[in-house]
Parts: sequence; C-alpha cells; structure tokens
Amino acid sequence: MAKTSRKAVDVIVLGAGAAGLMCAFTAARRGLKVLVLEKANKVGKKILMSGGGRCNFTNYSVDAGNFISGNPHFCKSALSQFTQWDFIELVKQHGIDYEERKHGQLFCLNSANDVLAMLLQECEQSAVEIKTHCQLKSVSALSAQDDKRYRVSLIQADGESGNQLELDCHSLVVATGALSVPTLGGSDIGYVIAEQFNLPLTPRRAGLVPFMFSDSMQPLCERLSGCSLEVEVTCNGSQFAENLLFTHRGISGPAILQISNYWFPGDEIEINLLPGIDVGEWIQQRKQQQGKTRLKTALSQLLPKSLVGELEKLCWPEHAESAMAEFSDKRLLEIAEKLGHWRLKPSATRVIVQPKSL
Ligand SMILES: Cc1cc2nc3c(=O)[nH]c(=O)nc-3n(C[C@H](O)[C@H](O)[C@H](O)COP(=O)(O)OP(=O)(O)OC[C@H]3O[C@@H](n4cnc5c(N)ncnc54)[C@H](O)[C@@H]3O)c2cc1C
Repeated sequence: MAKTSRKAVDVIVLGAGAAGLMCAFTAARRGLKVLVLEKANKVGKKILMSGGGRCNFTNYSVDAGNFISGNPHFCKSALSQFTQWDFIELVKQHGIDYEERKHGQLFCLNSANDVLAMLLQECEQSAVEIKTHCQLKSVSALSAQDDKRYRVSLIQADGESGNQLELDCHSLVVATGALSVPTLGGSDIGYVIAEQFNLPLTPRRAGLVPFMFSDSMQPLCERLSGCSLEVEVTCNGSQFAENLLFTHRGISGPAILQISNYWFPGDEIEINLLPGIDVGEWIQQRKQQQGKTRLKTALSQLLPKSLVGELEKLCWPEHAESAMAEFSDKRLLEIAEKLGHWRLKPSATRVIVQPKSL
C-alpha cells in the first residue's frame, strides 16, 4: 500500500487560477506559509485564454456597481482595499506593456502569459509552494482544539505512480473557479465543499451567455448569422453599448453577453439599432431629400444590408416596393420608434454546461 505523507501549513489554496494565485501571494506576503493545490497539469489555463490571449486585466473605471452580488457591500469593501490602480501598479512593476481599448479596458500588448508569469513570480518571491496534478479526495474539519482546522487528502498523480498526501492547514481557500469551459479546469467542487460545511448557497445561473429564441426570431437570426453591428441594449434598468452578433442559434456579442447577466426568463430586452442617432429626424430628412429612394436603400447607409432586408419584412412589408415619399410621416415615425426600441423576448440563454453534482 502506498505510504501517506503528512504536512502542515498555514493556508491551503485549492485551485491555481487567477483568484487562487492572487490570494496565495497576498497571504504569503503576510508571513503565512501557503500551499496551492492544482488539479490540472498546468496552472492558470483560463488566464492564458482570457481577452483573446491578451487578457483584459482591469479597467480604468471600476466600482462596486460593476459587480453582481447578493451582498453589494462585500464588493465595496473589497474594492476599497485593492483598486484597479493597485493592479495597474503591479503590472507596471513587472514591466508589462499594455494598451487601453474602448470603455477604458486594459489589455496586455504582448500576451496574457505576461499576467500569468507576473502572478507566478509574485508567488515565487513570497515562497508560495504550488503543486499540480492534485486529485482531491476529501476535505475534513479537524477538532476545535487543534491549531490546524482542516485536513485535505489527495493523490498527487504526476507520472506513473501517485503519492497520497494528507495536508493540514489553519485556513482553507477554495478558488476552484466555476463551470464555464470545463476543459480549462473549472469545476463545481466549490459548491460541493460549501454544502459539506453547511454554508448557504445562493441560486446560481449562467452569466455572460448568448440568447436563444423559439419564435420567428430563431430563423431570422440563422439567416443573419455572422452579421454584427454596434447597438445599445437594455434590460431591467441596465444598459450596454457594444457589439451585437447574430448567430445560427440566436444573438451574441459583448452587448448581449453583458446584458444576459440582468435577464431572467420571461423578460424582454430592448435593442436600439441606431444608438446616438435621432432616427425619426434622420428618416424625415431622407424623405425630404431623397423622396424617390426606398427606405431599405436609405437605411442601408447606416445598418448592414442583410439586417435592413429582414427589418423590412418585419416592420414595413406593405411598403417594400414604395419610395419614401409614399410613406406617411406617422408611419415613418412608427418605424423609427421600432428601430430605436426593438423589443425581443429570448426563450433561454445558451448554457454550455450544466452543474453536475448540484
Ligand atoms: C474565453 C474566456 C475569456 C475571458 N476573458 C477575460 C478577460 O479578458 N478578462 C477577465 O477579467 N476575465 C476574462 N474571463 C473570465 C476569467 O477568465 C475568469 O473569471 C477567471 O479566470 C476566473 O478565475 P478563477 O481563479 O476564479 O477560476 P479558474 O481560472 O477557473 O481557476 C480555477 C482553478 O481551479 C482548478 N481546480 C478546479 N477543481 C479543482 C480541484 N478539485 N482541486 C484543485 N484544483 C481545482 C482548475 O483547474 C483551475 O486551474 C474570460 C473567460 C473565458 C472563458
């Protein structure tokens, strides 16, 4: 039977993603002995994929309102202790080149690997120990009299044989990520451990996900698949001005992924297809200046042609062959209103993975 090795540290961090690595060196800087246990063969896989490989590591404008939380005060407290400027300072100290993109987003100029290398260097400098290939067997509470409060049992299966380890710690941090893109390591073990320790779980749902439709929007999206445009999308009082992308299954793109966090089944979303333009006034002007032109032709100056074709079928099918001069002013205003406030009712979000154990 394989021998079991025992060891004790101050802090064990489960998961060597962005959260786990950051937490590990922060604790170690306080003089604590920290051990990070990672299931995968490599650390920080999701960081490497982030921001299309360039990692959008922070934003010039960050406040508690940007975070969705059952306890908004937690975000306020966390952000007051570590701001975007602290992270930017760290990035600068490591000589990482970065650029500002729209909405104050900061991305690495070179590669997301720079951010991972920075976190690992900070861990190394603070003497954090990191073990990969860790198959977690159990987490248990030790008796209240002990200095160490938790025992983590695992097999470290690096190579042919596996070493059985029993690791005791005073503080246990579970930073095992969430369920999105399971190939990058995220798992639901955090929820399982929380249940084991009778910690209350809030209801969970997928965030940053595309929308699907079961009505006539579904074939429309399929026909427009690949078409994208800048929009303003609103739902339940939140609004995002970003890109929308039609896909075979529905709508996606940054604007939709963001608003999906505020959407609940049964809700409508409202899309302004021409943000920043007074569409009513614009159409009236076109009617006066280009009265012989068809509305579809005029709108194609502002919107993708394929989308205008679909909008025509939806909003002014009776006028498909008419010149703009033949539309009444009232009818044009109705159409303008629709383009600025296109109301859609998604049937569901496109969830890639369902929780396994809960
Ligand atoms: C394609 C994509 C692009 C993104 N782009 C950005 C971006 O540009 N900017 C941004 O801020 N965010 C971005 N995100 C989101 C961001 O990547 C995640 O929010 C962040 O990586 C989550 O970090 P985490 O440490 O909580 O979890 P993870 O990165 O998932 O890390 C969890 C770690 O725990 C390990 N683990 C799981 N189970 C166990 C176990 N039982 N025992 C031990 N270890 C375990 C996993 O292997 C993993 O290494 C992106 C996400 C995706 C999918």
